[in-house]
Amino acid sequence: MNKEEKKIETIIALLEEEASAWDVPIVTQYADNLKGPFTILISTILSLRTKDEVTEEASRRLFALADTPEAMAALEEEDIQKAIYPVGFYRNKAKTIIEICRTLQERYHSLVPDSLDELLTLKGVGRKTANLVMTLGYGKEGICVDTHVHRISNRLGYVAAKSPDETEFALRNKLPKKYWIRYNTLMVAFGRNVCRPVSPLCSCCVVASFCDREGVVHSR
Ligand code: SF4
Repeated sequence: MNKEEKKIETIIALLEEEASAWDVPIVTQYADNLKGPFTILISTILSLRTKDEVTEEASRRLFALADTPEAMAALEEEDIQKAIYPVGFYRNKAKTIIEICRTLQERYHSLVPDSLDELLTLKGVGRKTANLVMTLGYGKEGICVDTHVHRISNRLGYVAAKSPDETEFALRNKLPKKYWIRYNTLMVAFGRNVCRPVSPLCSCCVVASFCDREGVVHSR
């Protein structure tokens, strides 16, 4: 094991020790409740540019109406809008959800595909959503890079990337595969509780001695 591998292993082990005290992202809660790839896919679409509490409530209301592609495709667009309001861009998301459900019915026998390339052909599905369905929905290889994962991986000095997609490709090259699925959940929780977007809590961070604090101007 080289020096860099040892460093990330130590960081992840230290964060795992802290993790039980942190809140868990909503999409992970759905995965833990074994609701399956379809609800993970739809919840992730709802979560884009939306606060977690709002996503959680909207997801519950929507899945109470329908939790399969067939049932959801049969809903009126207005009913979906009402159920998911006030998530960001709720009108567009209602349209997108119906289109995704119809595509799943027509092309995939109402099942969510389990390949990254096929997921990326669905309307409104980008790399973040596709990777989350692969990892949490199917337990398959993937690294879901959202703003938390992107920011923290760069602050630590583990990658030097300009965008979440670049960070994903850099992580795919160097992060040991055994961490791929867990990495997102761990970093999202760490990012919400300690390594916050603005003014991270560096003074009480358990991995401070391993961090380059790249780009950190203000901290507490
Ligand atoms: Fe984030 Fe600061 Fe910890 Fe580095 S030391 S991981 S910047 S909280």
